[in-house]
Amino acid sequence: MKNVRVRFAPSPTGPLHIGGVRTALYNYLFAKKHNGTFILRIEDTDQERFVKGAEEYIINSLTWAGIVFDEGVHVGGPYAPYRQSERKAIYKQFALDLIKKGHAYYAFDTIEDLKQIHEHYANHGKSFQYDSTTRDSMKNSLTLGEEKTKELLSKNIPFVIRFKVPENRNLKLYDLIRGTIEINTNVLDDKVLLKSDGMPTYHLANVVDDYLMKITHVIRGEEWLPSYPLHFLLYEAFGWLDVMPQFAHLPLILKPEGHGKLSKRDGDKHGFPVYPCQWENEKGEKIIGFKEWGFLPEAFINMIALIGWNPGNNKEIMSLEEMIEEFSLDKINKAGGRFDPEKAKWFNHQYIQKTDNTTLLKLIKNYNTHYNVDDHTLLKIIELTKNRINILSEFFIINKYFFEPPTSYNTDLIQKKIKSHVFNHLLEIIKCFNNIKWEKLLIEEAIKNYCQLQGVRLGDLMTSLRIAIVGDASGPHLTDIMEIIGKTETISRIQNFFEFAKTNLLN
Ligand code: GLU
Repeated sequence: MKNVRVRFAPSPTGPLHIGGVRTALYNYLFAKKHNGTFILRIEDTDQERFVKGAEEYIINSLTWAGIVFDEGVHVGGPYAPYRQSERKAIYKQFALDLIKKGHAYYAFDTIEDLKQIHEHYANHGKSFQYDSTTRDSMKNSLTLGEEKTKELLSKNIPFVIRFKVPENRNLKLYDLIRGTIEINTNVLDDKVLLKSDGMPTYHLANVVDDYLMKITHVIRGEEWLPSYPLHFLLYEAFGWLDVMPQFAHLPLILKPEGHGKLSKRDGDKHGFPVYPCQWENEKGEKIIGFKEWGFLPEAFINMIALIGWNPGNNKEIMSLEEMIEEFSLDKINKAGGRFDPEKAKWFNHQYIQKTDNTTLLKLIKNYNTHYNVDDHTLLKIIELTKNRINILSEFFIINKYFFEPPTSYNTDLIQKKIKSHVFNHLLEIIKCFNNIKWEKLLIEEAIKNYCQLQGVRLGDLMTSLRIAIVGDASGPHLTDIMEIIGKTETISRIQNFFEFAKTNLLN
């Protein structure tokens, strides 16, 4: 494939959802696979929906995820500017050109006019659409004639420019993922192309820019499929069909339950993020993203790539380079892909195992909000526990016992597993600890020797020591934990547990 040029064209209306990241990623993979160019174009023509900080957020999030652009608002390029609000002057000419060619017209209907006609239709149980069946009864250049139109324009009467959808044509459109789509033009309305403030609508700006920026493939979300017929008609009306990009509409990312589009509410309900990075909303609330949740960017990218795309070789863990190598649009599913939070964590778990401990240390330290612990100790804990971690933010939670004594004991387990006479040995074992060098092998030896000498079952004493130190039956090897927390802390925890056992368990 020659000179592939694709673009990610978000509107800066808020934070990027993971669906948006996946669209950007598929465009990126496609571009790189074909040695093409990947462009970031900001579609900010709808000033009412503009959200401050959204553009910066989009760029920062994609940068974190490792998705880089060849051209765009932040890196420039031969087709700059890449922000549509800075290209405003371009679009009007194209709209006027369509009028000249008879494919568009001026419409002078006021908001009040439109409101009235909508109400009138509604009163008769119908809904109004500005189209080939109704345009003849509206206030536009087709009904007013050339003279009157000129007069209104010269008086600066506000107008919009609407596309004149051709009547009753059967369109056969091709989508690289969905195949052929058939539609009759009679269901389409005469969309506004240029608004009364002179700004283009999404449709006009999008098609004009794709044409001017020589885009070869439009890869975008399924929500834009209804716009495809109009976009096709625009290419046709402009006379650009020979350079029209090929279209691919990506399936949705579905809720964990498997039906309906994944939303922020699903994330709140199940306790997972839907944004790549933290977003601060207009109320000043900070909503965490996958980054802050504790995802490694490589894991995040790998995970989202496989929601809806399957290279067909059962390979799941893939670097960006491998994904580029394997990527093809025909391996994208037509049906929506379910977001499975457990599977997502599994990906991150795999990447944590592959990451060296010093890198993990740097990331994990960001989650330490209240413990005074040195890097050397943290590194040892990372080494011991990385195979238990799915997301970095849980590090200090599941490993709490390394940093503070247990605040409760699993009494069910104690009662089921430990014979009460074992408790009496706890104070005795402390005496043995007093005399040894604090290294895990020596600790282990001391415990074993004690058990042999006293005829105590090793398993029983170990379980009670674990409960004293951890509070529960979880965690890595006990003597590793004991070595890390130190002799004084170990002894103090055993004493505390003994006191607890004396009053609560030994009666
Ligand atoms: N501005 C549109 C969006 O927000 C772009 C759709 C397209 O890629 O054509 O997603």
